[in-house]
Amino acid sequence: MDADRSAAAGVTAPTDDDLLAAARRGDNAALGTLLVRYQPHVYRFGLRMCGNAEDAGDVTQESLFAMARSVRSFRGESSISTWLYTIARRFCMRKRRRSRFAPAREESLDAPGAEAALALADRSPDPEQTTANEQLAAALTRAIDALDPAQREVLVLRDVEGLTAPEVAAILDISVDAVKSRLHRGRVAVRTALAPTLDRSSLPAPRESVCPDVLTLFSQHLEGDIDPRACATMEAHLAACPHCRGVCDSLKRTLAVCRQLPAPQVPASLAASIRDGIQKVLNQQ
Ligand SMILES: [Zn+2]
Repeated sequence: MDADRSAAAGVTAPTDDDLLAAARRGDNAALGTLLVRYQPHVYRFGLRMCGNAEDAGDVTQESLFAMARSVRSFRGESSISTWLYTIARRFCMRKRRRSRFAPAREESLDAPGAEAALALADRSPDPEQTTANEQLAAALTRAIDALDPAQREVLVLRDVEGLTAPEVAAILDISVDAVKSRLHRGRVAVRTALAPTLDRSSLPAPRESVCPDVLTLFSQHLEGDIDPRACATMEAHLAACPHCRGVCDSLKRTLAVCRQLPAPQVPASLAASIRDGIQKVLNQQ
């Protein structure tokens, strides 16, 4: 979890590292606080990767129980979020293998996107803005769900959950370059899917012979991966080209919405069952 999100929990809230250190010493209250903190994030990751609330609930339970069982032996070589998402991803993949021959899920108003939209709506008092945010959040969630799984997990971990590219690489056990390449492709696909929602007034046409692959370039720029000369060339082009400027603006807005998507409310029955399960795990130790 990043500093912003930890800070949002309150200025005096202990950091993840404080809680983890206490949990490893056998402080079960600290472990409980840590698990509750991560619960909605693991649940959201499960929703996006499994595509349905039931599997996401199972993944969340199994991941948090696994963490409760092994927290004392956690050696701290990776961050807690890297560790937890690695466990959650393993459970997601097992689910996916099991459901490979299952019928495709049905789209419904109860789809995960609807929850995200409602949660975003709560933050804004302006009804017009609320509707716009709801539409954007729902469209974004649909666009993320439509990505192929390899791009989706990278984009969710990097742009929604806010992990660093090296953390994502560690979770997926692939190179940072491979993470970046999936990330850029995923971002381009999501921004393209959101274009009808984002680009309310249509953009001027690109200049076919002059316009670069500006979305990929801009995404690389955001990752700090283009050299100063390429950056200057891109900026000069953006200054002269309203089309590419508009496209970059909408990618920026897409990523801002990704980062603001609130984690969904974990259903009360699931939260209660996780609480009981963790208690059992701890009693057995
Ligand atoms: Zn251009």
